[in-house]
Amino acid sequence: MPEIFRRPRLLALSLGGTITMTASAAGGIAPTLGAADLVAAVPALAEIAEIEARSPFRVGSSSLTLGNIAAVAAEIRAAFADGFDGALVIQGTDTIEETAFALDLMVRDDRPVVVIGAMRGPQQPGADGPANLLAGAIVAASPAARGLGTLVVLNDEIHAARYVRKGHSALTSAFVSDNGGPLGLVAEGQARLFSRVTPLTLPPTLPDLMPASAAGADIELPPVALVKIGMGDDGRLLPALAGLGYRGAVIEGAGAGHVPGVMAEAVGALVRQMPVVLASRTLGGPVFERTYGYPGSEIDLIARGALPAGLLPALKARLMLVLALKAGCSREAIAEAVAAFR
Ligand code: ASP
Repeated sequence: MPEIFRRPRLLALSLGGTITMTASAAGGIAPTLGAADLVAAVPALAEIAEIEARSPFRVGSSSLTLGNIAAVAAEIRAAFADGFDGALVIQGTDTIEETAFALDLMVRDDRPVVVIGAMRGPQQPGADGPANLLAGAIVAASPAARGLGTLVVLNDEIHAARYVRKGHSALTSAFVSDNGGPLGLVAEGQARLFSRVTPLTLPPTLPDLMPASAAGADIELPPVALVKIGMGDDGRLLPALAGLGYRGAVIEGAGAGHVPGVMAEAVGALVRQMPVVLASRTLGGPVFERTYGYPGSEIDLIARGALPAGLLPALKARLMLVLALKAGCSREAIAEAVAAFR
């Protein structure tokens, strides 16, 4: 009997973003289109996969919340349980690096989850949305993309969620991957991977990071502050954080993870109130752990209890801390989870 070719089944979820935006009466462009409109505009998709289109949100991506993304992760997990072969998330590019990383932490499946967007609206000359959608579907349907966690595909490049970052506000080549570049590209209708990331292995002691009630957009998540360090900062914001209701903090230090010496004491005091993760504002390279020994250096801050984020940039460390706190993780479990990125 000849084997019958079955097209891969993909779930496409659109959340809004430039790729869905058309001219608005109020001026500028605003989200109007849904996943079904976007899929219908690219007939070549029918050769790649059988696509089920749903449109849970229609917003600019800076209005997406981690609660929204938890709901998207729940929908993808349900689709995978139902036999779908991959998922496509269509959204604004401004927060793709955060969404992709959050999905990586929450979906935990070998099947590809691919996040795409566009830098130009569908009514602009040279609109990149249709090409990005097609490339994203090719990757999501590709067996070569299995086991890589969540991926981001734009401008025909394939990026790992852990490393991808929007590095430009305008160009169609806006996306970069720090610490090693993209994993591959889409060429001649095929996903070609040059390198693979090791699967994201979180410590077995860490509970499932998927919030138990991910049904709606309004689930309550613990607030985590993100504090970027600038020259001459004296850290006066830090003692206010607990009173403002923050349950954790990420400090985005200079260089390999440093703050002004006058601030070190305040970091130690904050650690006594909540978990504090130390990231680097350089974005490339790890936070150091055993090189610099002056007040405010990484050795000093780690001795005071700050957790070095390794290669994890501050934006992503913040999301992990929110989910770990929501999952009720102990300080030890949080420290172990952060250590997975060293
Ligand atoms: N402001 C848009 C958004 O993130 C930008 C984009 O989609 O490229 O929703």
